[in-house]
Amino acid sequence: MQAVKHRILAAAAQNGRTAQSVRLLAVSKTFPPEAVREAFEAGQTAFGESYVQEALAKIAVLRDLPLEWHFIGPLQSNKTRQVAENFAWVHSIDRAKIAERLSAARPAELPPLQVCLQVNVSGEASKSGVAPEEAESLAAHVKSLPRLQLRGLMAIPAPTDDVALQRRQFRIVNELLTQLNRRNFQLDTLSMGMSDDMEAAIAEGATLVRVGSAIFGTRNYTKESSG
Ligand SMILES: *Cc1c(COP(=O)(O)O)cnc(C)c1O
Repeated sequence: MQAVKHRILAAAAQNGRTAQSVRLLAVSKTFPPEAVREAFEAGQTAFGESYVQEALAKIAVLRDLPLEWHFIGPLQSNKTRQVAENFAWVHSIDRAKIAERLSAARPAELPPLQVCLQVNVSGEASKSGVAPEEAESLAAHVKSLPRLQLRGLMAIPAPTDDVALQRRQFRIVNELLTQLNRRNFQLDTLSMGMSDDMEAAIAEGATLVRVGSAIFGTRNYTKESSG
């Protein structure tokens, strides 16, 4: 955790940004509740999950802690109610139907669900995410839904070791955010950057980096070890 904070601080400083301008989302998918508890004790409160069933079990066990849960994985219509009831944020909205269902299912006693549109910046390499040219119409639709608050854009670029290519993909997302804000969407969140590319994302304006393995270690997807 400290090493990741240091990387964020260094990347921010190198780009003339403050450390507070980049929020850390600790991605705890596949890791047990004890790992989340330990991170919380080290000062971390925002956690990201990608699998609904696994997340719900973890959230239930950790009810005693004031945690902020972010859903960052692919979302199917039959899971929208559980997500609307248990998460503070959803980063992976890429179609109107999912957004409508989340808004309809968001409990009245909770604040509006904070959401980002997931944008596909790697073309055919990815099936999830809205195409950049369709982002504005989806954003307008999401903005019209009463129980969602549209905060920004999220992207998962195709993995590459080429830092210039990483930056080019992140820049597309940043430019799209600027374009939407010129149309008065008032978005403040660029959710981009993971363990292997957070420096490039911060250089291109990320306000929230989603970091898993650099905090918790290598993921093992087998049932036994995922707790
Ligand atoms: C797993 C995951 C991450 C974290 O990836 P790391 O490489 O472990 O940092 C970030 N974002 C999303 C959407 C993920 O599914």
